[in-house]
Amino acid sequence: MSNLTNRDTSIGTKIRESLQADCQNCFGLCCTALNIVASSDFAMNKPAGKPCSNLKDDYSCQIHSKLRVNGFKGCTVFDCLGAGQQVSQVTFKGQDWRQSRIHADKMFQVFPIMEQLYEMIAYVAEALSYQVDNTLYEQLLVQLEQLQQATELEADALLTLDIVAIRMPVNALLLKTSEQIRTHRVKEKASSKLNQRGADWMGKKLQGKDLRATDLRGSYLIAANLQGANLREVDFIGADLRDANLRGADLSTSLFLTQMQINAAQGDRSTKLPSYIKRPAHWK
Ligand code: SF4
Repeated sequence: MSNLTNRDTSIGTKIRESLQADCQNCFGLCCTALNIVASSDFAMNKPAGKPCSNLKDDYSCQIHSKLRVNGFKGCTVFDCLGAGQQVSQVTFKGQDWRQSRIHADKMFQVFPIMEQLYEMIAYVAEALSYQVDNTLYEQLLVQLEQLQQATELEADALLTLDIVAIRMPVNALLLKTSEQIRTHRVKEKASSKLNQRGADWMGKKLQGKDLRATDLRGSYLIAANLQGANLREVDFIGADLRDANLRGADLSTSLFLTQMQINAAQGDRSTKLPSYIKRPAHWK
């Protein structure tokens, strides 16, 4: 790879690590705004805009310590990256949605939009934490600024955003980032093996495999056995890792891994994770 620079990547790292949910400063938006269908992850149906029956008046969850045993596994997986407190404290300036129905409806519509903006910011910030070429670095910086500015918009302006159109250039930049980093780090592998985009590896036995720098975007890794696998520089955007066995696996430099993907997988203390991912409390 040519034109890679030894630039300061700490800006991206700091922003990525700072994107954490702060439930104390949120009006329980994920427990209210979203539509949830009963499944193995959530024990009941809940339409968008209706508070979950387990949500208390202070916006804490009355079954917080027993979510998994009560059939609410999905609640231990969800992560808004901080979109909830942004909507509650910045967009709506700390006004509780219980104050008026109109106010509440608007807040519930804004939350999923903010959530998607935060998800894109997380990806772009992570991309800026890598040594990419000058052109790409500048493009990522511009993109990050545009996304951050969007999060500061008034509620009515947020509701007019075309999220699909915003996603397209972001996705193009993330693809370029992935290609630069993966090509740069692992040159010796055959390119055909590295491209496993959308692969169906559900339940596959991949324990101990060297999968470094593989493109696993949008792949199905549900219940795959990846125990002890080398997953460094693997691109995981959109991959489904539900119940994948990550015990002892090395994901320390995996690309575009999210807290939700890790929360949905199985791991332990020996699983190596990127600095911006917390080890899930339910991993034993
Ligand atoms: S069960 Fe608890 S965490 Fe899950 S949606 Fe309801 S109140 Fe929120």
